Amino acid sequence: MLFSDLTAVFEKLEATRARLEITSDVAKLLKECDSRNVRKVVYLLQGIVQPSFTGVDLGVGDKLAQQAISRVSGKTIKQIEASYRKTGDLGETGKELLSIKAQTSLVNAELSVDKVYDNFYKIATASGQGSQDLKIKLLSELLSNSSPVEAKVILRFTTGSLRLGLGDQTIIDAFSFFEKGDKSVKQVFEKAFNFTSDLGFVAELFFEKGLQAVDEVKPMPFNPIRPALAERLQDSKEIFEKLGKCSVEGKYDGFRLQVHLSNGRVEIYSRKQEKITEMFPEIVEGVKKYFNAKQVIFEGEAIVVKDGKFLPFQATIQRKRKHGVSEKAKELPLKLYCFELLYLDGKDLTGLKYEQRRTKLDSIIKNNTDVVLANRIIASSSEEIEEYFLDCLAKGLEGVIAKDLNAPYVAGGRKFAWIKLKKSYSDKLVDTVDVVIVGYYYGKGKRTQFGFGGLLTAVLNEDSNEFETIAKIGTGFSEEQMSFFQNELGKIKLKQKPSNVSSLIDADEWVQPKIVVEIAADEITKSPMHTAGMVGREGYALRFPRFLRIREDKSVDECTTVLEVLELFERQRR
Ligand code: AMP
Repeated sequence: MLFSDLTAVFEKLEATRARLEITSDVAKLLKECDSRNVRKVVYLLQGIVQPSFTGVDLGVGDKLAQQAISRVSGKTIKQIEASYRKTGDLGETGKELLSIKAQTSLVNAELSVDKVYDNFYKIATASGQGSQDLKIKLLSELLSNSSPVEAKVILRFTTGSLRLGLGDQTIIDAFSFFEKGDKSVKQVFEKAFNFTSDLGFVAELFFEKGLQAVDEVKPMPFNPIRPALAERLQDSKEIFEKLGKCSVEGKYDGFRLQVHLSNGRVEIYSRKQEKITEMFPEIVEGVKKYFNAKQVIFEGEAIVVKDGKFLPFQATIQRKRKHGVSEKAKELPLKLYCFELLYLDGKDLTGLKYEQRRTKLDSIIKNNTDVVLANRIIASSSEEIEEYFLDCLAKGLEGVIAKDLNAPYVAGGRKFAWIKLKKSYSDKLVDTVDVVIVGYYYGKGKRTQFGFGGLLTAVLNEDSNEFETIAKIGTGFSEEQMSFFQNELGKIKLKQKPSNVSSLIDADEWVQPKIVVEIAADEITKSPMHTAGMVGREGYALRFPRFLRIREDKSVDECTTVLEVLELFERQRR
C-alpha cells in the first residue's frame, strides 16, 4: 500500500465529523489491506508504533523533528521556529517549508506504508550512543521522499499530535462493518481487544484466520487485560439490595497494577496498559519470591505504607517516576494489596466466579510483607457493610469496594460486579466525578499569562460512545496546574470539535478527548446548555464544579458515564 493512499484517508478522517462516516471510511481502508500490512495500518490509525504495553514509544520531541525539517528543507532552526510559532503545528510548518523544496527538487521514490512504518519502528527503538543522530537521519529520509501532505502526517505522527480523533471503539466498529456491514459482531472484536489490549494483533489474527479465531482469543501473559471497572451506589443499603451476600474489600487509594509473571519474567502494567515494571522493583522481587505459581496474571492496588499507616495518594504518586527509583522506594515503600486473579498456569480464570478466583489467589500468595491480599469480609447484611466501611475510613482508606461473589471478571467493563462506596467530598453530591477534557478556554484578567482559563468537560454516553458535555470548570486550579494544562492541552488541540464529542457550547480550543480529571460539585441540575443525557432540550450539568486532580491513571473510557450521572441525579432528588 502506498503511504499517499493512507495519507488521503487520514486527511479525510481529520475533516469528517460524523462518526458513522468515519467508521465506514476505516472499514473501506481495511478492504485495501492484507494480512501482512493490516497490523501496521491499524497501529498508524491509532497513532502508535506498538501498543503502550510493549514500552515502544515513538517519543520524538519537537526539537528533533525541527532538525530533520532543517536538514531536508535547508531552512535554519530559527526560520523553522518562526514558522512554528505562527502555525502552532509542526506538521503544518513542515508541509509549508517542504513544499518549497518539493517545487525545486526532482520527484523522489514514492513512500510505501511499510517503509514509513519501518522507519517509525527504528526511530522508536533506537537507543544508546548516536541514537539521536540516527533518529534524525531516519526521519529526514522519510521527509525527503514525501509530498508536503505526507510530511505533515509524518511530522504529526512522530511528535504525537496526529489529529484523527479516532477512538479504539471506532476501529472496533469498523472491523465489524468490514465483516458484516453493520455493528452486529463488534462484541467479538471488543472481547478479544479487552483480553489483549492490542488492536493490531486482533486485526492480523482476523485477516489470517477469520472471526472464529478472534472469538477464541484468551488472555495471555504479557498482554495486559483491560481492567474491570467499578459502579457506584449511594450507601450500604443499596449495595446490599443489589448484591445480597457479598465480599467487601478496603478501597486503597493508590495505583492499580496488573502484574504478569511467566517463567521467571515479571512485568507490571498500569490501568492504562503502560508498562511500568521499572518503577516498582520491590514488587517485582516480591512476586518472584513469594508467588507459588509459574504463570500468573493478577491485580492489586499499590499504596505507600509508612510506619503501618496508609499515606495519601499525593505520596503514592511520587513513586510513579523514571529516575531515582531506588531512593524513592526507600523513602516511600509500597505495598501491593492483591484483589484479583485472572490467569494461572496456562488457564484463563476470567470466566470463574469471583469467589473461586479469590480462593485461588489466597492459595498462591505466600506470606510476604510487600505483596499481600486485600483485606476483606464477607458481608451478610447492610449493617456489616456499613461497619466495615467505617472501619476502613478510620484506617485511612478511601472507602470500600463490594464484589458480587458469583460474577466473572468483566474485562473492560462495569456490570455491577464491583460497587464502590467512597467517603463523601460534599454534603450534596456523594461522590466526585471523573470527566474527560474536550476543550478549554483562554484565561481572562490575571490568567491571561497562562493562556488557560478553564476546561470544558464531558462524560461518556456508553450507548452512542460519545462524550457529552457536563461542566465548564473555572476554579480549583493552582498556577502550576494552569501552566500544565496550557502546555499539555496545546499539544492535543484540534481545529474543530472531535467527531465523538457532542456539545452545544463552543470552546476556545477543542482537544482530543484524552485526559481525565476528577471534580467535585455541589449538585446535578438540569440544563439546556449541556448535552449529558440530553432528552429533548434538557441535559444534565454539574453545579459549582471544582477541579480536584488529574486522573493520570484513568483512560477516557473509564470516566463517569451518563447513566451514573442519571443515577446520581435521581438519588439527589430522593
Ligand atoms: P474508582 O477509581 O474510584 O472508579 O474506583 C475503582 C478503583 O479502585 C479500581 O480501579 C482500583 O484502582 C481501586 N481499588 C482499590 N482497592 C480496590 C479493591 N480492593 N478492589 C478493586 N479495586 C480497588
